[in-house]
Amino acid sequence: MPARTPRSYPFQYNLRGRVRRTSPRSCSYCFESALNSPDRLCTTAEEPDVPADSCRPPPPQTAPPARGRGRVTGSGFGPARLRCRNYGKTLDFFLNSARAVLLVKMSYLINGVKHCSPMNQMHKVTGALFKACLLRNTWRIKEQQLKISRALSQLSSEKANSYNYVIVGAGSAGCVLANRLTEDPHSTVLLLEAGPKDTLLGSKRLLWKIHMPAALTYNLCDEKYNWYYHTTSQKHMDNRIMYWPRGRVWGGSSSLNAMVYIRGHAEDYNRWSREGAIGWDYDHCLPYFKKAQTHELGSDQYRGGKGPLYVSRGKTNHPLHQAFLDATQQAGYPFTDDMNGYQQEGFGWMDMTIHQGKRWSTASAYLHPALSRPNLSVTEKTLVTKILFQGTKSIGVEYVKNGQTEKAFASKEVILSGGAINSPQLLMLSGIGNADDLKKLGIPVVCHLPGVGQNLQDHLEVYVQHKCTKPITLYSAQKPVNMARIGLEWLWKFTGEGATAHLESGGFIRSQPGVPHPDIQFHFLPSQVIDHGRVASTMEAYQVHVGPMRSASVGWLKLKSADPKDHPIIEPNYMSAERDIWEFRQCVKLTREIFAQKAFEKFRGPEIQPGNNVQSDKEIDAFIRQKTDSAYHPSCTCKMGQPSDGTAVVDPQTKVIGVENLRVVDASIMPSIVSGNLNAPTIMIAEKAADIIKGLPSLQEKNVPVYKPKTLETQR
Ligand SMILES: Cc1cc2nc3c(=O)[nH]c(=O)nc-3n(C[C@H](O)[C@H](O)[C@H](O)COP(=O)(O)OP(=O)(O)OC[C@H]3O[C@@H](n4cnc5c(N)ncnc54)[C@H](O)[C@@H]3O)c2cc1C
Repeated sequence: MPARTPRSYPFQYNLRGRVRRTSPRSCSYCFESALNSPDRLCTTAEEPDVPADSCRPPPPQTAPPARGRGRVTGSGFGPARLRCRNYGKTLDFFLNSARAVLLVKMSYLINGVKHCSPMNQMHKVTGALFKACLLRNTWRIKEQQLKISRALSQLSSEKANSYNYVIVGAGSAGCVLANRLTEDPHSTVLLLEAGPKDTLLGSKRLLWKIHMPAALTYNLCDEKYNWYYHTTSQKHMDNRIMYWPRGRVWGGSSSLNAMVYIRGHAEDYNRWSREGAIGWDYDHCLPYFKKAQTHELGSDQYRGGKGPLYVSRGKTNHPLHQAFLDATQQAGYPFTDDMNGYQQEGFGWMDMTIHQGKRWSTASAYLHPALSRPNLSVTEKTLVTKILFQGTKSIGVEYVKNGQTEKAFASKEVILSGGAINSPQLLMLSGIGNADDLKKLGIPVVCHLPGVGQNLQDHLEVYVQHKCTKPITLYSAQKPVNMARIGLEWLWKFTGEGATAHLESGGFIRSQPGVPHPDIQFHFLPSQVIDHGRVASTMEAYQVHVGPMRSASVGWLKLKSADPKDHPIIEPNYMSAERDIWEFRQCVKLTREIFAQKAFEKFRGPEIQPGNNVQSDKEIDAFIRQKTDSAYHPSCTCKMGQPSDGTAVVDPQTKVIGVENLRVVDASIMPSIVSGNLNAPTIMIAEKAADIIKGLPSLQEKNVPVYKPKTLETQR
């Protein structure tokens, strides 16, 4: 038989999570086998004369079965035939007995023997016994056949649910991987997401709470698209329990975040390399930032021009943003025209992942454009509860969808992209983590990897707020009539105040002389945020979000129980390092200095917080412990490093150390937190990991210049 030419994959997972057969006449054999070996695809659809199932291999050429031997028709499967042969022997005996009894009965009839004769009675009894035996054996055979067919249907459903790659989590990293790995039409991918789709009836307008940039705080108020995590009570923060929103929807946290596009400093990546993530220095990361991006200002040595991730600049020209930038220069800081380019240090206009007035999450950038590919299957509302192992080799995952527990198998790799909380949680639930902790919860240990869940790092920030003397802040936009006007304009044209997240200016400075690159970040907002936006502002006000970038406090997370639905215990250990409180004090003092500049004269009302009564270091420290909150950047809980490093979880190839066919690709694998927001770095990680998985050589751009301050002897 001539070799069949591989052709496009005839099955796809539809969005309800069921396998759909796209080739109407594919035979049942191919349906099963195609999933594992696309080169054995059936071509019956193109060959109308060939009956369906004709590509089923012929039954093995063995000696013809002996007369009377039982045979399971059409099975063609070795183990089934073997089991049936034993039953065949039993059947032989009874069939031969039946023949004998029949012959005797016939001879009596022919010879006219009366029915009431003792001989006849005896034959009645023998007949009844024989029938009982025959029935019992037929029942046993039927039972056996049922078992076999159940096993076969399980086998075929395993095959039907088998892919080259199974990716857990359609977030910032997962969407990138799903897109890049399915660029190869021979590579089949299943992307499993716990949350719902990010569109309603295919419309972004109908899900304006996700796609309207100005609506970003809506999803922080409830659990609809949000894991809604909380930390343990923080002893250095007045025992406060901190709220950690995290995206649980297509796009993950990139569908919930504030859309600020910041890459971090070149030295962050050089530090990664020194920490053991060899091959992840700036020269090797910059090309992947560029590969991902299309910047609206065009490409250059730092910006990308062809990637799926559209990045733009704010368009409001709000006078308070201008006042902020003028004030920073009056305070002696440089203006930088691209804090993601040559010079991070200084203040300037922020890049945003907003495109044509809409949030440009990774679902918009990477997932939606790939949905039509037949080799990509995507689910929603599907919680992965366990990684399946054969020994230490990962072979698939178990998940719950619509209350049913199902399995999906990966012939090549399982890739965890569940984020900095869920990826270590899923590893531990599956037996990878600190063996002592796992045993206490009764979880069988697959691999003792004590670094899982450790090294937890985050950014904290505090708001320094002023009343504004002019009615120009976003306060008026929150009045119902204005909200309706802004909403309608956005729904109609994707323009206006709804089309921006309003964090349009910001910057990076050094906290003190001697610090080699900026360690404090600012975002300016012409509005006031209270309790993560869960409480509405009641006044005209403006604020900066300010915080240190490279905190010395490191925490951990552990399982609370073996139940995948239980949130883990999250212990960030905020402010446990004395240096952190000192840096925060600097943040407050340096911000006050900026707000005191001439540029704010015509807008400056009384300071709302910390407030004029907060002046001494002690008072500032108390304010910080009472008011700082997470900047939503948990990371580093599955640290990338050398296998010789006992705290590393993945190696520089992103493979989980100590097991096979398992990777983690998301914000959790950062060896240490970068100096900036985390969405762009996470997308870069996934872009680079995709090339590693495909076996492509790493991109590299050597000696790209990076700004260094003229002197480190001064702070600015
Ligand atoms: C409110 C908020 C504001 C932020 N603002 C900014 C900002 O302005 N700029 C910036 O750069 N960064 C920002 N960040 C941070 C940034 O968005 C995240 O660091 C980044 O998106 C993390 O990407 P990830 O791929 O690691 O995880 P995520 O994007 O969180 O993706 C993980 C995905 O996996 C899914 N998942 C998890 N477990 C399972 C499971 N067991 N089964 C199935 N699916 C699962 C989740 O539902 C989620 O969709 C913000 C974050 C938040 C929450």
